[in-house]
Amino acid sequence: MDEQLNSIAYHRGAYAPLRECNINIMTHALQYGTMIFGGMRGYHDSESNNITLFRPVDHFQRLHRSAKIMQMRPTQSPEQMTGIALELLRRNEYRCNVYLRPFIYKSELRLSPSLHDVQDDFSIYTMKLDDYIDTSRGLSVAVSSWRRIDDNIIPTRAKVAGGYANSALAKSEALQNGYDEAIFLDSRGFVSEGSAENIFIVRDGVLITPPNSASVLEGITMRSILELARSEGIEVQRRDIGRSELYIADEMFLTGTGAQVAWVAHVDRREIGGGRIGPVTERLRDRYLRAVRGRDPEFKDWAVPVY
Ligand code: PMP
Repeated sequence: MDEQLNSIAYHRGAYAPLRECNINIMTHALQYGTMIFGGMRGYHDSESNNITLFRPVDHFQRLHRSAKIMQMRPTQSPEQMTGIALELLRRNEYRCNVYLRPFIYKSELRLSPSLHDVQDDFSIYTMKLDDYIDTSRGLSVAVSSWRRIDDNIIPTRAKVAGGYANSALAKSEALQNGYDEAIFLDSRGFVSEGSAENIFIVRDGVLITPPNSASVLEGITMRSILELARSEGIEVQRRDIGRSELYIADEMFLTGTGAQVAWVAHVDRREIGGGRIGPVTERLRDRYLRAVRGRDPEFKDWAVPVY
């Protein structure tokens, strides 16, 4: 943690050691969960000793959309935020896999949960990060007893800190019951997503993921997988998935910046695809892991070099 606290972060418009980047306990965002955030990865390439940041402008565009929903007014454009993110990685002199956590938070010290006319501020911190989920083996997941928050409760397409109480309840329930991850159903009872990942299934060679209207986060990894699948000529469907359809899927995997492409071997104790990674999942995972390092000629612009 000491090393982490000495890293350079961006806070209140300046670059400073993380140990100095603090907020007052009365801060609106702390009291009401009025913070919106992103999460992105930088991949280190040992051959070139460079790092590539994965789709930073797309991540910051999503941050801007979350800000709009939550009545925040970022002063920097997605491109300017990308410049700050790249500068942060250089100032930290990273030569390893990294994770960046940019966020905008209601920074006023105010006793009222309203959104309008409350000042906000933009910060980023970074850390070294390898795998968030062990992707070498298949995950064992379970449908959660917690329902996904609805767009009319806390907007799920905005990455709002307050909404992550929902994710935390489901994730702990899953882990404490001996599973690796939770799968949420939405308020209608259809499959939504994981606690911090989108979900895909494969049936008869068709790749299926729920629509944005199933209370899912509009994931950048999901979008990337859909684009890679189309480039591979794989048929793609965005439609509702019923709970029991999970049990009879040929393949299943979760996607997210943290999880990357994590294949599922069991759902609610039912084995998927003979307990082995499926061919469509493997193809897409391998292509994704090349693309994030800038090694896919068709999607080279997804990976932005730091140095
Ligand atoms: N859903 C939720 C609830 C998440 O927190 C995340 C992680 N950001 C995702 C899906 C995946 O999104 P992305 O691919 O943009 O990381």
